[in-house]
Amino acid sequence: MQDLRGKTVLVTGGGRGIGRAIALAFAAQGSHLVITGRSQAALDSVAREIHCYDVTILPLSCDVTQKREIEDLKKRIASELEIVEVLVNNAGIAPAVSFLEMEDSLWEEVMRVNLTGTYYCCKVFLPEMIAAKWGRIVNIASTVAKTSYPNISAYATSKHAVLGLTRSLAVETAKFGVTVNAVCPGYVDTGLTQKNAALLAEKKGKPLADAFEMLKSASPQKRLIEPAEVAHLAVMLASEAAKGITGQAINVDGGAVMA
Ligand code: NDP
Repeated sequence: MQDLRGKTVLVTGGGRGIGRAIALAFAAQGSHLVITGRSQAALDSVAREIHCYDVTILPLSCDVTQKREIEDLKKRIASELEIVEVLVNNAGIAPAVSFLEMEDSLWEEVMRVNLTGTYYCCKVFLPEMIAAKWGRIVNIASTVAKTSYPNISAYATSKHAVLGLTRSLAVETAKFGVTVNAVCPGYVDTGLTQKNAALLAEKKGKPLADAFEMLKSASPQKRLIEPAEVAHLAVMLASEAAKGITGQAINVDGGAVMA
């Protein structure tokens, strides 16, 4: 996919997990990277991994819930790399709690990070894609953008909404050479899943290994997805060859959800 060489790619939440894998996958294509998150140490660590590729890497602290920080990020990128051509909205949180026990503040935080953060980034970076008549937005949603499970009402609602935003933007940007798609992973082998497996084990009074087996058994392939598998799809959706794919929500889940 040589057409991604030299493109500027912004990956939110690029300091670990799926975001790290996405950043590495684009770097392997020769794309320049901006990775953001709140932990500078995590971003610097990924930047060191990317240094072996002949690309520019900017590890910049930015909280997606703060629009001012995203606007400042855009100015910083403009001074070093011009415009963002590929935006990967990956930053997210997934706290597990039953609906009745959930604090209002948790609901609001999940919406702010997963939905409003995605909205802010699209709002800030989409205009320059439209002006350039080329752009790619890849929203890392989830299979729970299409279905749900117990104890994740805020998370599932936020991801359903990300899908609504994806489809709405796809329609509005179609004539400007911009595509907007969602990637919907099942359980991926990251810190987020490890944390939720530990919670599940505690709740069920079972060993951690049993909790992992329960998560794996949600997929007909009986395994967790690797972050690199999600990254592969993000790269494909950003490629020139994918110019006809927009408004889609593509699962990477071993066949767990078939919608
Ligand atoms: P991790 O917890 O490993 O990573 C989450 C990333 O988001 C971190 O880099 C974190 O950086 C960043 N982040 C969180 N809050 C903010 C914020 N306010 N501002 C900026 N960055 C933030 O999660 P995963 O890699 O597993 O998940 C990545 C995405 O994939 C999420 O959107 C998640 O919902 C989605 N997903 C994950 C699945 C899974 O099974 N793991 C399945 C389906 C979807 P920092 O803390 O430094 O800010």
